[in-house]
Amino acid sequence: GEPGTRVVTHSGKEPAMCDCIFCKIANHEIPSTVVYEDDRVIAFDDLNPQAPVHTLVIPKKHYADITDGVPAETLGAMAHAIDEVARVKGLDKGFRVISNKGEAAGQTVMHFHMHVLGGKDLGEGLI
Ligand code: AMP
Ligand code: ZN
Repeated sequence: GEPGTRVVTHSGKEPAMCDCIFCKIANHEIPSTVVYEDDRVIAFDDLNPQAPVHTLVIPKKHYADITDGVPAETLGAMAHAIDEVARVKGLDKGFRVISNKGEAAGQTVMHFHMHVLGGKDLGEGLI
């Protein structure tokens, strides 16, 4: 590139250089309603809820989607976060977890996330 510019890898560790909205949420650069947080992951309520409970669980580090080389420890931390979300939100009767990958699935934010949906009888539409 131009002299004086530098290539920036898309990691959550460079908050000022990262245009990803979920990296900014992970870095607390933009506000969200945090439900659970630890070293690896953060869970926050979806801005446009599709169910009475609709919380997103994301890794703090940037991965594009579920197939983007996400380490096993991170996936385990996300499973733990889902359990914490269910406990905090009182989803004792059950809930649904969805992760969209790519345009056919309607993925709009290209930072891996799992939707946790519940708080009502979800029925059998779309799984
Ligand atoms: P997907 O279609 O699977 O990529 O889902 C992206 C989700 O992110 C949608 O349900 C949006 O409502 C949600 N979303 C986008 N921006 C924000 C934000 N700033 N805070 C919370 N949720 C968001
Ligand atoms: Zn990101």
